[in-house]
Amino acid sequence: MTAIEASGLTKRYGSVDALEGIHIRVERGEFFGLFGPNGAGKTTMLRILTGQLKPTEGGARVLGIDVVLEPLRVKSVIGIVPEVESPPSYLTAYEYLYFVGQVRKIGGLEDRIARWFEFFDLDDARSSLCKDLSKGTRQKLMLAAAFLHEPALVFLDEPFINLDPIYQRKLREFLQEYVGGGGTVFMATHLLDIAEKLCDRVAVIRDGAIIATGTVDEIRGPESNLEAAFLRLVGA
Ligand code: ATP
Repeated sequence: MTAIEASGLTKRYGSVDALEGIHIRVERGEFFGLFGPNGAGKTTMLRILTGQLKPTEGGARVLGIDVVLEPLRVKSVIGIVPEVESPPSYLTAYEYLYFVGQVRKIGGLEDRIARWFEFFDLDDARSSLCKDLSKGTRQKLMLAAAFLHEPALVFLDEPFINLDPIYQRKLREFLQEYVGGGGTVFMATHLLDIAEKLCDRVAVIRDGAIIATGTVDEIRGPESNLEAAFLRLVGA
């Protein structure tokens, strides 16, 4: 079954062509990676696919829902960890997850929050305002919030940034389990070594256009690793 289907996605910011006629398809249960140089259009694509931004042309369906016509429905079923985002400064760590759970009308909320506090070892942060937490702890909270309602599909923009190696590994294992259980991940990242371990399929975007897509093996081609293939593909 298809998790994400985008056709002819185009986005112009004034005179800047951020995306030009993107076609992409991600099946349920896939771990899909999106790579590209700075300014290639990754965040723009994620923002369109998650109903935050309207395309100039083209459209997309996420879990069968039209992202332009029903952005709120899209947001209610998916999980999102946006790039450089923090939980609200005025809430404590616990309050943040509690508020997210209330908005999403999650049953058994206390148990779910407790599980995430345990997973990320967040007990010391429980009563601290989010603004006073370390960057890594804020990232853990964003991840916990994205998965709190057990979504079938998550969009992750650089989810490993700010996590120490212990939690990078924990997150890797969690995401592998999540996908193994039928979940779908769409991840934009510059961390090609991590992506190489995790992704089933990837796409490379440059100047708003997809220049390569395929399995990790297909994209790696004759190169020894994904990074070398990426550098060749983007002509660096
Ligand atoms: P990075 O890897 O640096 O995060 P990216 O691949 O996520 O980059 P985008 O942030 O999607 O790239 O940007 C794509 C292009 O669109 C860039 O040229 C950027 O300057 C431009 N752009 C993005 N957002 C806006 C905006 N709100 N207004 C005008 N131009 C924008």
